[in-house]
Amino acid sequence: MIPFLDLKKINQPYETAFQEKLKLVLDNGWYILGKEVENFEKAFAEYCHTKYCIGVGNGFDALVLIFKGYIQLGKLQKGDEVIVPANTYIASILAILQADLVPVLVEPKLETYNINPDLIQEKITPKTKAILAVHLYGQLAEMEKINEIANQHNLIVVEDSAQSHGAINNQQLIINNQQSAQAYSFYPGKNLGCLGDGGAITTNDSELAKVLFSLRNYGSEKKYYNEFVGINSRLDELQAGFLNLKLPNLDADNEKRRSIAKRYLSEIKNDKIKLPFWDLSNNHVFHLFVIRTENRDDLQHYLTQKNIETIIHYPIPPHKQKAFPDWNNLSFPITEKIHNEILSLPISPVLTETEVDFIIEILNQY
Ligand SMILES: *Cc1c(COP(=O)(O)O)cnc(C)c1O
Repeated sequence: MIPFLDLKKINQPYETAFQEKLKLVLDNGWYILGKEVENFEKAFAEYCHTKYCIGVGNGFDALVLIFKGYIQLGKLQKGDEVIVPANTYIASILAILQADLVPVLVEPKLETYNINPDLIQEKITPKTKAILAVHLYGQLAEMEKINEIANQHNLIVVEDSAQSHGAINNQQLIINNQQSAQAYSFYPGKNLGCLGDGGAITTNDSELAKVLFSLRNYGSEKKYYNEFVGINSRLDELQAGFLNLKLPNLDADNEKRRSIAKRYLSEIKNDKIKLPFWDLSNNHVFHLFVIRTENRDDLQHYLTQKNIETIIHYPIPPHKQKAFPDWNNLSFPITEKIHNEILSLPISPVLTETEVDFIIEILNQY
Protein backbone atom coordinates (compact mmCIF):
# COMPACT_ATOMS: atom_id res chain seq x y z
CA MET A 1 0.00 0.00 0.00
CA ILE A 2 1.33 3.48 -0.85
CA PRO A 3 0.06 5.58 2.07
CA PHE A 4 -1.18 9.08 1.35
CA LEU A 5 1.31 10.47 3.85
CA ASP A 6 3.79 8.43 5.89
CA LEU A 7 4.39 10.65 8.94
CA LYS A 8 6.42 7.99 10.72
CA LYS A 9 8.83 7.81 7.80
CA ILE A 10 9.05 11.62 7.68
CA ASN A 11 10.05 11.82 11.34
CA GLN A 12 12.19 8.67 11.57
CA PRO A 13 15.46 10.36 10.50
CA TYR A 14 15.14 12.75 13.45
CA GLU A 15 14.62 10.04 16.10
CA THR A 16 17.99 10.35 17.82
CA ALA A 17 18.00 14.13 17.60
CA PHE A 18 14.45 14.28 19.00
CA GLN A 19 15.47 12.12 21.96
CA GLU A 20 18.49 14.31 22.65
CA LYS A 21 16.27 17.37 22.44
CA LEU A 22 13.80 15.85 24.90
CA LYS A 23 16.65 15.21 27.33
CA LEU A 24 17.94 18.74 26.88
CA VAL A 25 14.54 20.29 27.62
CA LEU A 26 13.93 17.87 30.49
CA ASP A 27 17.29 18.67 32.10
CA ASN A 28 16.76 22.36 31.50
CA GLY A 29 13.71 22.35 33.78
CA TRP A 30 12.05 25.25 31.91
CA TYR A 31 9.07 23.96 29.97
CA ILE A 32 7.04 27.00 28.85
CA LEU A 33 8.32 29.86 26.65
CA GLY A 34 11.98 29.00 27.10
CA LYS A 35 15.08 28.99 24.92
CA GLU A 36 13.69 26.58 22.31
CA VAL A 37 10.66 28.79 21.57
CA GLU A 38 12.86 31.88 21.53
CA ASN A 39 15.36 30.25 19.16
CA PHE A 40 12.62 28.97 16.88
CA GLU A 41 10.92 32.36 16.73
CA LYS A 42 14.22 33.91 15.70
CA ALA A 43 15.01 31.24 13.13
CA PHE A 44 11.52 31.18 11.60
CA ALA A 45 11.34 34.98 11.33
CA GLU A 46 14.66 34.91 9.53
CA TYR A 47 13.49 32.08 7.28
CA CYS A 48 10.31 34.03 6.37
CA HIS A 49 12.18 37.34 5.97
CA THR A 50 9.99 39.02 8.59
CA LYS A 51 10.99 41.06 11.60
CA TYR A 52 8.89 39.07 14.05
CA CYS A 53 7.69 35.57 14.69
CA ILE A 54 5.32 34.79 17.56
CA GLY A 55 5.02 31.10 18.44
CA VAL A 56 1.44 30.06 19.30
CA GLY A 57 -0.53 26.92 20.11
CA ASN A 58 -1.75 26.02 16.59
CA GLY A 59 -2.63 27.45 13.20
CA PHE A 60 -6.21 28.27 14.14
CA ASP A 61 -5.07 30.32 17.14
CA ALA A 62 -2.50 32.06 14.94
CA LEU A 63 -5.36 33.34 12.76
CA VAL A 64 -7.62 34.24 15.70
CA LEU A 65 -4.80 36.06 17.48
CA ILE A 66 -3.95 38.14 14.41
CA PHE A 67 -7.57 39.32 14.23
CA LYS A 68 -7.73 39.89 18.00
CA GLY A 69 -4.46 41.79 17.80
CA TYR A 70 -5.87 44.15 15.17
CA ILE A 71 -9.03 44.57 17.24
CA GLN A 72 -6.89 45.42 20.27
CA LEU A 73 -5.06 48.03 18.17
CA GLY A 74 -8.39 49.55 17.10
CA LYS A 75 -7.79 48.66 13.45
CA LEU A 76 -10.64 46.14 13.38
CA GLN A 77 -13.92 46.18 15.25
CA LYS A 78 -16.39 43.47 16.13
CA GLY A 79 -18.81 42.98 13.23
CA ASP A 80 -16.34 44.10 10.56
CA GLU A 81 -16.40 42.07 7.36
CA VAL A 82 -13.47 39.94 6.25
CA ILE A 83 -13.17 38.69 2.66
CA VAL A 84 -12.20 35.00 2.56
CA PRO A 85 -12.19 32.36 -0.18
CA ALA A 86 -15.28 30.11 -0.22
CA ASN A 87 -12.91 27.27 -1.08
CA THR A 88 -10.69 26.82 1.97
CA TYR A 89 -10.18 24.59 4.95
CA ILE A 90 -12.91 25.55 7.43
CA ALA A 91 -10.37 26.83 10.01
CA SER A 92 -9.91 30.05 8.01
CA ILE A 93 -13.62 30.85 8.32
CA LEU A 94 -13.98 29.67 11.93
CA ALA A 95 -11.09 31.92 12.96
CA ILE A 96 -12.88 34.98 11.57
CA LEU A 97 -16.03 34.03 13.50
CA GLN A 98 -14.05 33.31 16.67
CA ALA A 99 -12.79 36.92 16.59
CA ASP A 100 -16.42 38.20 16.27
CA LEU A 101 -15.85 39.28 12.69
CA VAL A 102 -18.05 38.45 9.68
CA PRO A 103 -16.73 36.19 6.90
CA VAL A 104 -17.70 37.16 3.35
CA LEU A 105 -17.10 34.29 0.94
CA VAL A 106 -15.60 34.80 -2.51
CA GLU A 107 -15.32 32.19 -5.26
CA PRO A 108 -11.92 30.75 -6.24
CA LYS A 109 -10.46 30.25 -9.70
CA LEU A 110 -11.04 26.75 -10.98
CA GLU A 111 -7.45 26.45 -12.22
CA THR A 112 -5.53 27.57 -9.12
CA TYR A 113 -8.13 26.72 -6.45
CA ASN A 114 -7.21 30.08 -4.87
CA ILE A 115 -9.45 33.14 -4.40
CA ASN A 116 -10.34 34.95 -7.64
CA PRO A 117 -9.12 38.54 -7.10
CA ASP A 118 -11.46 39.82 -9.84
CA LEU A 119 -14.47 38.85 -7.71
CA ILE A 120 -13.34 40.60 -4.54
CA GLN A 121 -14.30 44.14 -5.53
CA GLU A 122 -18.04 43.37 -5.82
CA LYS A 123 -18.09 41.96 -2.27
CA ILE A 124 -16.57 45.05 -0.67
CA THR A 125 -18.96 47.11 1.49
CA PRO A 126 -18.32 49.99 3.92
CA LYS A 127 -17.95 47.30 6.62
CA THR A 128 -15.18 45.41 4.81
CA LYS A 129 -11.96 45.90 6.75
CA ALA A 130 -9.72 42.94 5.91
CA ILE A 131 -8.91 40.21 3.39
CA LEU A 132 -7.88 36.76 4.57
CA ALA A 133 -5.93 35.27 1.68
CA VAL A 134 -5.38 31.52 1.84
CA HIS A 135 -2.43 29.94 0.03
CA LEU A 136 -4.28 26.73 -0.61
CA TYR A 137 -2.40 23.48 -1.26
CA GLY A 138 0.94 25.35 -1.07
CA GLN A 139 0.50 27.86 -3.91
CA LEU A 140 0.46 31.55 -3.04
CA ALA A 141 -2.76 33.39 -3.81
CA GLU A 142 -2.47 36.25 -6.33
CA MET A 143 -1.06 38.62 -3.74
CA GLU A 144 -0.10 41.40 -6.13
CA LYS A 145 -3.75 41.91 -7.13
CA ILE A 146 -5.08 41.25 -3.62
CA ASN A 147 -2.67 43.75 -2.19
CA GLU A 148 -3.64 46.37 -4.75
CA ILE A 149 -7.33 46.00 -3.84
CA ALA A 150 -6.42 46.15 -0.15
CA ASN A 151 -4.46 49.37 -0.68
CA GLN A 152 -7.33 50.96 -2.63
CA HIS A 153 -9.81 50.24 0.15
CA ASN A 154 -7.44 50.50 3.09
CA LEU A 155 -7.94 46.86 4.07
CA ILE A 156 -5.74 44.76 6.33
CA VAL A 157 -4.24 41.72 4.60
CA VAL A 158 -4.00 38.52 6.63
CA GLU A 159 -2.51 35.39 5.07
CA ASP A 160 -3.43 31.84 6.02
CA SER A 161 -0.03 30.25 5.33
CA ALA A 162 -0.85 26.98 7.09
CA GLN A 163 -0.21 25.07 3.85
CA SER A 164 2.55 27.20 2.38
CA HIS A 165 5.68 27.15 4.55
CA GLY A 166 8.52 28.35 2.35
CA ALA A 167 6.34 29.50 -0.57
CA ILE A 168 7.80 32.95 -0.26
CA ASN A 169 8.54 34.94 -3.38
CA ASN A 170 9.53 38.51 -4.08
CA GLN A 171 5.94 39.63 -4.10
CA GLN A 172 5.37 38.32 -0.60
CA LEU A 173 8.52 40.08 0.59
CA ILE A 174 7.02 43.36 -0.62
CA ILE A 175 3.70 42.61 1.05
CA ASN A 176 5.50 41.74 4.25
CA ASN A 177 6.62 45.33 4.50
CA GLN A 178 3.06 46.51 4.83
CA GLN A 179 0.25 46.11 7.29
CA SER A 180 -0.06 42.35 7.22
CA ALA A 181 0.53 39.15 9.13
CA GLN A 182 0.84 35.49 8.23
CA ALA A 183 -0.54 32.53 10.18
CA TYR A 184 1.33 29.21 10.14
CA SER A 185 0.39 25.77 11.45
CA PHE A 186 2.86 23.07 12.44
CA TYR A 187 0.22 20.34 12.61
CA PRO A 188 2.12 17.07 11.95
CA GLY A 189 1.01 16.71 8.31
CA LYS A 190 2.01 20.23 7.19
CA ASN A 191 5.20 20.88 5.20
CA LEU A 192 6.86 21.83 8.49
CA GLY A 193 5.19 19.73 11.16
CA CYS A 194 5.92 18.97 14.79
CA LEU A 195 4.83 15.98 16.92
CA GLY A 196 1.62 17.57 18.13
CA ASP A 197 -0.01 20.96 17.77
CA GLY A 198 1.98 24.09 17.01
CA GLY A 199 1.66 27.37 15.18
CA ALA A 200 3.22 30.76 14.58
CA ILE A 201 2.50 34.26 13.35
CA THR A 202 4.98 36.22 11.25
CA THR A 203 4.75 39.96 10.69
CA ASN A 204 6.77 43.11 10.13
CA ASP A 205 4.25 45.19 12.06
CA SER A 206 6.01 45.99 15.34
CA GLU A 207 2.86 47.35 17.01
CA LEU A 208 0.99 44.16 16.18
CA ALA A 209 3.88 41.92 17.24
CA LYS A 210 4.09 43.60 20.63
CA VAL A 211 0.38 42.98 21.27
CA LEU A 212 0.59 39.39 20.02
CA PHE A 213 3.51 38.39 22.28
CA SER A 214 1.24 39.45 25.10
CA LEU A 215 -2.16 38.21 23.84
CA ARG A 216 -0.93 34.62 23.43
CA ASN A 217 0.13 34.62 27.09
CA TYR A 218 -2.98 35.85 28.98
CA GLY A 219 -2.41 39.39 27.75
CA SER A 220 0.58 39.63 30.01
CA GLU A 221 4.14 40.58 29.24
CA LYS A 222 5.27 40.83 32.81
CA LYS A 223 4.07 37.85 34.86
CA TYR A 224 0.86 38.55 36.81
CA TYR A 225 0.43 42.00 35.20
CA ASN A 226 -2.30 41.80 32.52
CA GLU A 227 -2.54 44.58 29.97
CA PHE A 228 -5.03 42.90 27.62
CA VAL A 229 -7.78 40.28 27.70
CA GLY A 230 -5.56 37.56 26.29
CA ILE A 231 -5.73 33.80 25.91
CA ASN A 232 -3.39 30.90 26.57
CA SER A 233 -1.94 29.84 23.23
CA ARG A 234 1.80 29.37 23.48
CA LEU A 235 4.01 27.31 21.20
CA ASP A 236 5.09 24.36 23.36
CA GLU A 237 8.76 24.37 24.35
CA LEU A 238 9.36 20.75 23.35
CA GLN A 239 7.55 21.15 20.01
CA ALA A 240 9.67 24.25 19.33
CA GLY A 241 12.72 22.09 20.06
CA PHE A 242 11.59 19.56 17.45
CA LEU A 243 10.83 22.33 14.95
CA ASN A 244 14.34 23.74 15.45
CA LEU A 245 15.66 20.39 14.25
CA LYS A 246 13.35 20.20 11.23
CA LEU A 247 13.40 23.80 9.95
CA PRO A 248 16.88 23.54 8.36
CA ASN A 249 15.54 20.81 6.04
CA LEU A 250 12.34 22.59 4.99
CA ASP A 251 13.72 23.97 1.72
CA ALA A 252 15.11 20.58 0.70
CA ASP A 253 11.81 18.90 1.62
CA ASN A 254 9.87 21.44 -0.46
CA GLU A 255 12.26 20.90 -3.37
CA LYS A 256 11.55 17.17 -3.17
CA ARG A 257 7.81 17.88 -3.27
CA ARG A 258 8.29 20.15 -6.31
CA SER A 259 10.32 17.50 -8.13
CA ILE A 260 7.53 14.94 -7.61
CA ALA A 261 4.97 17.53 -8.77
CA LYS A 262 7.03 18.15 -11.92
CA ARG A 263 6.98 14.43 -12.68
CA TYR A 264 3.22 14.19 -12.12
CA LEU A 265 2.65 17.25 -14.32
CA SER A 266 4.73 16.01 -17.22
CA GLU A 267 4.09 12.26 -17.03
CA ILE A 268 0.41 11.88 -16.09
CA LYS A 269 -1.30 11.75 -19.48
CA ASN A 270 -4.95 10.90 -19.22
CA ASP A 271 -7.80 12.92 -20.74
CA LYS A 272 -10.00 12.08 -17.77
CA ILE A 273 -7.60 13.76 -15.36
CA LYS A 274 -7.11 17.52 -15.02
CA LEU A 275 -3.78 18.44 -13.51
CA PRO A 276 -3.31 21.42 -11.20
CA PHE A 277 -2.17 24.72 -12.69
CA TRP A 278 1.23 25.88 -11.51
CA ASP A 279 2.31 29.43 -12.25
CA LEU A 280 6.07 28.89 -12.43
CA SER A 281 6.77 32.40 -11.13
CA ASN A 282 5.03 31.19 -7.98
CA ASN A 283 7.20 29.20 -5.60
CA HIS A 284 4.59 26.45 -5.09
CA VAL A 285 5.52 24.16 -2.19
CA PHE A 286 2.97 21.44 -3.05
CA HIS A 287 1.59 20.77 0.38
CA LEU A 288 -0.96 18.83 -1.68
CA PHE A 289 -1.07 17.71 -5.31
CA VAL A 290 -4.74 18.03 -6.21
CA ILE A 291 -6.12 16.69 -9.48
CA ARG A 292 -9.67 16.96 -10.82
CA THR A 293 -11.81 14.38 -12.54
CA GLU A 294 -15.51 14.18 -13.33
CA ASN A 295 -16.00 10.78 -11.81
CA ARG A 296 -13.94 11.36 -8.71
CA ASP A 297 -15.31 8.62 -6.47
CA ASP A 298 -14.75 6.08 -9.21
CA LEU A 299 -11.13 7.15 -9.63
CA GLN A 300 -10.54 7.05 -5.90
CA HIS A 301 -12.03 3.56 -5.72
CA TYR A 302 -9.82 2.43 -8.63
CA LEU A 303 -6.69 3.80 -6.93
CA THR A 304 -7.59 2.14 -3.62
CA GLN A 305 -7.91 -1.18 -5.42
CA LYS A 306 -4.43 -0.59 -6.82
CA ASN A 307 -3.17 0.10 -3.29
CA ILE A 308 -2.74 3.84 -3.71
CA GLU A 309 -4.22 5.86 -0.87
CA THR A 310 -5.76 9.24 -1.76
CA ILE A 311 -7.68 11.85 0.24
CA ILE A 312 -10.24 14.51 -0.68
CA HIS A 313 -9.27 18.01 0.53
CA TYR A 314 -12.10 18.73 1.18
CA PRO A 315 -15.29 16.75 0.54
CA ILE A 316 -17.81 19.38 1.78
CA PRO A 317 -17.40 23.12 1.11
CA PRO A 318 -17.67 25.33 4.22
CA HIS A 319 -20.98 26.90 3.10
CA LYS A 320 -22.56 23.43 2.86
CA GLN A 321 -21.48 22.34 6.35
CA LYS A 322 -24.12 21.66 9.00
CA ALA A 323 -22.31 24.13 11.24
CA PHE A 324 -23.49 26.96 8.96
CA PRO A 325 -27.22 26.34 8.33
CA ASP A 326 -27.72 29.96 7.20
CA TRP A 327 -25.28 29.45 4.35
CA ASN A 328 -26.47 26.06 3.12
CA ASN A 329 -28.68 27.56 0.40
CA LEU A 330 -26.03 29.92 -0.93
CA SER A 331 -24.61 29.06 -4.31
CA PHE A 332 -20.87 28.97 -5.03
CA PRO A 333 -20.78 26.86 -8.21
CA ILE A 334 -17.00 26.88 -8.69
CA THR A 335 -16.34 25.98 -5.08
CA GLU A 336 -18.93 23.19 -5.31
CA LYS A 337 -17.48 21.89 -8.58
CA ILE A 338 -14.02 21.79 -7.02
CA HIS A 339 -15.26 19.88 -3.99
CA ASN A 340 -17.03 17.36 -6.23
CA GLU A 341 -14.09 16.73 -8.54
CA ILE A 342 -10.87 16.97 -6.53
CA LEU A 343 -8.60 14.21 -5.34
CA SER A 344 -5.22 14.57 -3.61
CA LEU A 345 -2.45 12.21 -4.74
CA PRO A 346 0.35 11.10 -2.40
CA ILE A 347 3.14 13.69 -2.31
CA SER A 348 5.77 14.08 0.39
CA PRO A 349 9.54 14.28 0.84
CA VAL A 350 9.66 10.54 1.62
CA LEU A 351 7.69 9.29 -1.41
CA THR A 352 10.15 7.23 -3.49
CA GLU A 353 10.76 7.46 -7.25
CA THR A 354 9.48 3.88 -7.59
CA GLU A 355 6.25 4.85 -5.85
CA VAL A 356 5.89 7.89 -8.11
CA ASP A 357 6.53 5.65 -11.17
CA PHE A 358 3.78 3.32 -10.01
CA ILE A 359 1.25 6.07 -9.27
CA ILE A 360 1.81 7.63 -12.72
CA GLU A 361 1.53 4.26 -14.46
CA ILE A 362 -1.71 3.37 -12.69
CA LEU A 363 -3.23 6.79 -13.40
CA ASN A 364 -2.33 6.55 -17.07
CA GLN A 365 -4.01 3.16 -17.24
CA TYR A 366 -7.28 4.50 -15.82
C1 LIG B 1 -4.14 23.27 8.95
C2 LIG B 1 -4.82 24.50 8.57
C3 LIG B 1 -5.25 25.44 9.51
C4 LIG B 1 -5.29 25.19 10.98
O1 LIG B 1 -4.12 24.76 11.57
P1 LIG B 1 -4.18 23.95 12.96
O2 LIG B 1 -2.78 23.96 13.43
O3 LIG B 1 -4.72 22.60 12.67
O4 LIG B 1 -5.06 24.72 13.88
C5 LIG B 1 -5.77 26.63 9.05
N1 LIG B 1 -5.89 26.91 7.75
C6 LIG B 1 -5.51 26.02 6.81
C7 LIG B 1 -5.66 26.38 5.36
C8 LIG B 1 -4.97 24.79 7.18
O5 LIG B 1 -4.61 23.91 6.23
